[in-house]
Amino acid sequence: MKLDVNALRYLSKDDFRVLTAVEMGMRNHEIVPSELIDRIAGLKHGGTYKVLRNLLKNKLVHHEATKYDGFRLTYLGYDFLAIKTLVNRGVFASVGRQIGVGKESDIFEVATEDGTVLAMKLHRLGRTSFRAVKSKRDYLAHRRSFNWLYLSRLAALKEFAFMKALGEHGFPVPTAVDCNRHCVIMSLVQGYPLVQVKELQNPDDVFDTILGLVVRLAEHGLIHCDFNEFNIMIGDDEKVTMIDFPQMVSVSHRNAQMFFDRDIECIYKFFKKRFHLSSEKCKEQDGSEINDDENGRPSFLSVQKSDGSLDKELAASGFTRKEQVEMDKYIHENAEEESSDDDDSTSEQDSEDGDEATVKINSLKIADQDSAGAPDHILRGRDSNEPETSEENETSTGLSGENKLANTSSSSNGATMEPPESGGNADNDDDSSEDPDGEDDDSFAKQLNKHRKRAIAAAHGRRRPLSSRNTLKDKGKGTMNSKIQRQACKW
Ligand code: ADP
Ligand code: MG
Repeated sequence: MKLDVNALRYLSKDDFRVLTAVEMGMRNHEIVPSELIDRIAGLKHGGTYKVLRNLLKNKLVHHEATKYDGFRLTYLGYDFLAIKTLVNRGVFASVGRQIGVGKESDIFEVATEDGTVLAMKLHRLGRTSFRAVKSKRDYLAHRRSFNWLYLSRLAALKEFAFMKALGEHGFPVPTAVDCNRHCVIMSLVQGYPLVQVKELQNPDDVFDTILGLVVRLAEHGLIHCDFNEFNIMIGDDEKVTMIDFPQMVSVSHRNAQMFFDRDIECIYKFFKKRFHLSSEKCKEQDGSEINDDENGRPSFLSVQKSDGSLDKELAASGFTRKEQVEMDKYIHENAEEESSDDDDSTSEQDSEDGDEATVKINSLKIADQDSAGAPDHILRGRDSNEPETSEENETSTGLSGENKLANTSSSSNGATMEPPESGGNADNDDDSSEDPDGEDDDSFAKQLNKHRKRAIAAAHGRRRPLSSRNTLKDKGKGTMNSKIQRQACKW
């Protein structure tokens, strides 16, 4: 998907105000009537309608006039709201090239004021699996205010929480930096997805490490559920990093054993095919006490789930039970209907000619740093679980746009990089004000904020060497990807 951030530069305060109003209206309307947008935005002299035309022109909103006349946010509009919020927070300052196209996400490089390059994952649930999902709409149809943006936001929230917890427990995952709406910011992994790696110096070691991860995850109470060559990154030194966590489940999930076996099976299949690993190799495990099944594979039943219970920790982390259930329903029912691994193979991004593009990151100056928050009385009246707007949160904390801008730019001058903002404008992504988990969410937002500051500080130390690419890789497929890349390079 094209993400022309240039348009973002020219959006005015009023544009963002109206965009935010559409987002707020979507909490209880799939299509938001223009009168409601106008009321929420509160612009004088019918200004809203003129702005809506501009937003429509830039494809930030979609117009529908079937049942009644109204608008909804597009993914692009949602992207801009998230990007603006994160830029205002000082998490990053510019958006670079696209480095990945996942099944249901787009991944871009972003750079902080001091030039540290991070990865930005924009979740796009419902994109590639639209057909599959259509056939199982029952549950979705009954959900009064269902929409893709909401599910994408849940996916991001879950991914961020899991990435953070896994990192804290010593798993090799990207550092979770921040999260807003459907967008997760994380450290950039140095390396390539395993699927692009043609040769390994030590395939046996890598195999052991990877299988060991599946087992260690289970020992911690978790199953990845999409553990395959697309979600394992290999660095130049053959360091393994796992990515992509929205579909993870607890070992107490009713299909846990099936998911575990499937993860193991994917690894075996891939290593046999690509690296011709002998079946004997599959029997020895790297020093760990893994009990094998009759095929010599790690068996779910014999994994000691005693190393801690990350699944329970995560369940209590603010990602509410209800949200977990909703995600699970969407992701796992969806996955069962799709053929297991064909999607990724057509959608993964070619990162072949990416080296030079790393430095070509345009400075992204937001035209109006002043928050586009809607009037206070409206902001307080929220009552549903639809996508949060954080513009209003920023407004309500009393931090002006100028302050945030000043914070950001001052950080760029400092020799020692500081997290670019105070805790004052924590994003209280109060997505669940309709349920009793609101308090949990508040404390979760605080936790996120604390973590974000630490992670930004940590990430500042890491710059990506421009030439540290693995040379042994496949060419990517798909003309669409190269088109996106060409487009991205223009930014
Ligand atoms: P999806 O959930 O849509 O499959 P992934 O998280 O697997 O998305 O990411 C898709 C691709 O983007 C990956 O295969 C990888 O090439 C790239 N990617 C994702 N996260 C990072 C990261 N932190 N650093 C570098 N590349 C990444
Ligand atoms: Mg993936």
